[in-house]
Amino acid sequence: MSDVTVTNWAGNITYTAEELLRPRSPRALGALVAGSARLRVLGSGHSFNEIAQPGAGGVLLSLADLPSVVDVDTAARTVRVGGGVRYAELARRVHARGLALPNLASLPHISVAGSVATGTHGSGVGNGSLASAVREVELITADGSALTIARGDGRFGGAVTSLGALGVVTSLTLGLEPAYEVEQHVFTEMPLAGLDTATFEAVMASAYSVSLFTDWRAPGFRQVWLKRRTDQPLPEFPYAEPALDRMHPVPGMPAVNCTEQSGVPGPWHERLPHFRADFVPSSGAELQSEYLMPREHALAALHAMDAIREVVAPVLQTCEIRTVAADAQWLSPSYGRDTVAAHFTWVEDTAAVLPVVRELERTLAPFAARPHWGKVFTTPSAELRALYPRLDDFRSLARALDPEGKFGNGFVRGVLGE
Ligand SMILES: Cc1cc2nc3c(=O)[nH]c(=O)nc-3n(C[C@H](O)[C@H](O)[C@H](O)COP(=O)(O)OP(=O)(O)OC[C@H]3O[C@@H](n4cnc5c(N)ncnc54)[C@H](O)[C@@H]3O)c2cc1C
Repeated sequence: MSDVTVTNWAGNITYTAEELLRPRSPRALGALVAGSARLRVLGSGHSFNEIAQPGAGGVLLSLADLPSVVDVDTAARTVRVGGGVRYAELARRVHARGLALPNLASLPHISVAGSVATGTHGSGVGNGSLASAVREVELITADGSALTIARGDGRFGGAVTSLGALGVVTSLTLGLEPAYEVEQHVFTEMPLAGLDTATFEAVMASAYSVSLFTDWRAPGFRQVWLKRRTDQPLPEFPYAEPALDRMHPVPGMPAVNCTEQSGVPGPWHERLPHFRADFVPSSGAELQSEYLMPREHALAALHAMDAIREVVAPVLQTCEIRTVAADAQWLSPSYGRDTVAAHFTWVEDTAAVLPVVRELERTLAPFAARPHWGKVFTTPSAELRALYPRLDDFRSLARALDPEGKFGNGFVRGVLGE
């Protein structure tokens, strides 16, 4: 049989598989899982590395043709969402019932299951990664049988941010809250010089979700984005000047595909992402990396990045600094620690970017930097082992649910040091 190839959204990775299977019913899905020797689900394909590559001779599975399940329980304030559904659709349907998710990532076009599998996050000192909203996971495991793992089950800590290694996630149940409104306020040119830890903390806590952007062509931050819930106070922001116009996180790019700014209030799901749901880029001319560090290291890490900005800037489109509250998922880059996250949108030139990624990793290693699982990184297995105290527990869980390694691949073996 000849292989099929599928490229990811950024076009930097080509997944190879014996077949790309698109089951149309849960029953067909179970049969496909039971009957395949090696298998990997492809979500919306927005990761930048080999994470979704099936093991040798394996098949790729897309859940896009399954019925799109979004079951809202308004009394319980939960939603049960299918394994192929994207945040844009989920958010629209949840909002229509007067409810909301606590947070979203910068892009709404990513699948829920794929996002929580990699520890995807937004920003906010009080907001955990998107996996924090998950109450229950429903899986088809290696033998084709269904398994539900809910909060309170001893396995739950490994079940959500699972790198897709435990089985096919057929649905997730997420906690919701009453719908709220958010307004975005953008400021420009906040210097790094003179920023102390107390001020950094005050800046990052000055709104529900805060992002700092820099191109590292000069010290300091070109833009500060505050996403304020209108049911929370709007404090003074004396650290930078209000932007005169709408802005894109990449300097010089038109802001037309960005969510509404200028303090105009709107529904949570039209403000928490940076990019609009109705503008769907089919591919991206970029690569991304991100490193998540304990928040007490934030200022030292910012100065360390500033010290190598002449190395970083030539291949950088934009760098975004966010915060993520600690969570309890064993493989979450925010596991057990309140986090500062340094994200890099690079130019789409792998050969030029990789040496800079390595230099950045050397620079951030003293700050216990955990790489984002969905982005470009080269952190060796031995370092990952030291960074994740529950790695062995995750390995045991993966072996228990998938003894033959049906869902294993080179990426997961690298993470687990196998
Ligand atoms: C433009 C852009 C903006 C981004 N913004 C952010 C951001 O703000 N914050 C952030 O943290 N990250 C961000 N990311 C990274 C992105 O959130 C992650 O790469 C995420 O994993 C993408 O989800 P996906 O569905 O495309 O996953 P894929 O890349 O398709 O898959 C990721 C993993 O999930 C597994 N998987 C997917 N669905 C299932 C399922 N149903 N069952 C089992 N396994 C499954 C796959 O096998 C794979 O291992 C961004 C990426 C892009 C391209």
